[in-house]
Amino acid sequence: MTPALLLTCRFGIIAGMSYLEKKVCVFACLLLLCVSAWAEENIYIVRKGDTLSEIASKHGVSSSSLARLNDISNPKKLQIGQKLSIPIKPGEPIEYEVQTGDTLERIARKHHTRISTLIELNTLADPDRLKVGQKLVVPFVDSPRSSLRGEHPVLANQLDKIRVTRKWKYIVVHHSATESGTVKGMDSYHRNKRHMEHGLAYHFVIGNGKGIRDGEIAIGDRWRKQLHGGHLRSDSLNEVSIGICLVGNFDRNKPTENQLRSLRLLTGYLLEKADLQPDRVKGHCEINPKPTRCPGRFLSMKKVRAEL
Ligand SMILES: [Zn+2]
Repeated sequence: MTPALLLTCRFGIIAGMSYLEKKVCVFACLLLLCVSAWAEENIYIVRKGDTLSEIASKHGVSSSSLARLNDISNPKKLQIGQKLSIPIKPGEPIEYEVQTGDTLERIARKHHTRISTLIELNTLADPDRLKVGQKLVVPFVDSPRSSLRGEHPVLANQLDKIRVTRKWKYIVVHHSATESGTVKGMDSYHRNKRHMEHGLAYHFVIGNGKGIRDGEIAIGDRWRKQLHGGHLRSDSLNEVSIGICLVGNFDRNKPTENQLRSLRLLTGYLLEKADLQPDRVKGHCEINPKPTRCPGRFLSMKKVRAEL
């Protein structure tokens, strides 16, 4: 929608229109304006003289998150015309009224935020004492779907296009038990050595910076095609379990912060899309019929679930 068209609509055509036609026209103009503003929110095109920190502050985000999102290693080398993805702001805080049975943990989970954030926002002296009807300020985050979109807009668009056609029951988390890994390497191992017809046994892989970028979420063919997984020792469980593999050996090292963050965003998104509750997110060892150490002692599934 261009301003010229809007003006034509308001001052030119409108004179000869009926009341209803005018109303429809103005509504259409407003709608188009909204749509065009929304479409521009995610992408910014670099102009002459722009700096990363200026672009970041203009959009109310940090330079580091902007650099990370766009894979920029040298912020001084921005190019005119370069397209930057802008993370969507979480939005203004909203008011929440404490209900019977509410705890701070429950409220935090409901609003996809942390207990510490709630304590800070509300300057709560005694967080254990909430009163029914008490008003709290909570950050507004739409849903896990929009949180994923905020940090990985391109990936979220790709995921939105994939229709869920299988009745999934679980999301199962694995580690690769190797220091590094690529999707191609894992796919070839599963296809050639393990003789799996569909290759890569998992639906998603999350990188640790060795082989795949730290925190990058790779979508496997099994998710694109909504095929069963090959990551559990049970055919019936493989039929209904989404497999996510984090690259790394978590019996030796901790997962990276970026990996944990991506795991939370991805599982949050998938729970919503597959209509499941957080208790359906399991570690390999928690669901496999045969004993396994996967996903390793440094990846706490309890913590993963608590943050969903
Ligand atoms: Zn495993």
